[in-house]
Amino acid sequence: MTNAIAVDIGGTKVACGIVVLDEGERPQVISVEKVPTEAARGGEHVLSVVMGAVSRALDRAVDPVCGIGVSSAGVIDPVSGDVTFANDLMPGWGGTHLGSELEHVFGLPCRVMGDVHAHALGEARHGSGRGLPSCLVVAVGTGIGGAFVERGTIMLGAHDVAGHVGHVSCLEAAGVPCSCGAVGHLEPVAAGPGIAAAYARLGGEASVTDGAEIDRRAAAGEKAACEAEALAGHALGGVLGSLCNVLDPACVILSGSVAQCGPAWSDAMREGFSAQAMAPVRQTPVIEGSLGGDAPLIGAAENLVRPAYAETAEND
Ligand SMILES: [Zn+2]
Repeated sequence: MTNAIAVDIGGTKVACGIVVLDEGERPQVISVEKVPTEAARGGEHVLSVVMGAVSRALDRAVDPVCGIGVSSAGVIDPVSGDVTFANDLMPGWGGTHLGSELEHVFGLPCRVMGDVHAHALGEARHGSGRGLPSCLVVAVGTGIGGAFVERGTIMLGAHDVAGHVGHVSCLEAAGVPCSCGAVGHLEPVAAGPGIAAAYARLGGEASVTDGAEIDRRAAAGEKAACEAEALAGHALGGVLGSLCNVLDPACVILSGSVAQCGPAWSDAMREGFSAQAMAPVRQTPVIEGSLGGDAPLIGAAENLVRPAYAETAEND
């Protein structure tokens, strides 16, 4: 049995707890504390919030811990543990030497990965992908991100950006500008804000922008809500089908708030998938994640014990 401190740093909250890793068992996440990130106060402040959370988790730990596994928003260099880029939601977080600062302060081994990858690793090794040789994990919420995991190893890419599933072109997004600067990408039509925008455009009530409310209205048969969800679902499904043609994963695991939408969304997603997937991969299961909020903590702890990337394993 191995115990690790795991911390998940998001734009609104920092979750920190202890993950108990036991050979052959699903890891247990215990003693979790959640505190506000207070991201607007800058990168140095966020780092102090993280230090405080880790320090308190170490105080709570009854058994010795082997190190600190970290999942963080932003683009992470998994070799150095640096945050190489963070968007405007976390001003000043980019450039933080997160891994080395934690190692220096606590004198424990530390390994850092991006939050989307941590989530994917948790689901692949211990959630819905458990026991399968490969999976494509895609989170659909306010944005869209993902990772391809094969035999427990995440594809990282030459620039650490593999898995940006939201930034793939699709027919439904023709002419729509994307946050990355390109035109026609999936994210602005299939993520939560895209569904809300489509709902307004299709004649939905202007005051309604909440995804859960739009989903309730779709379930009640409201036309604009159904159409908005169907558009988004079809676009996502088409991209997932296309990606299965390229990667041929054993399954696709979906998580995030949008993945909870009802049949107006999920039926269209499956239709879009079938329309694009080649015959040999058309039956690839598209399933829900099963670890919920524990996924990134489990992934971060797993990455510490058994590296998520071939690139970091080589440096061990
Ligand atoms: Zn884009």
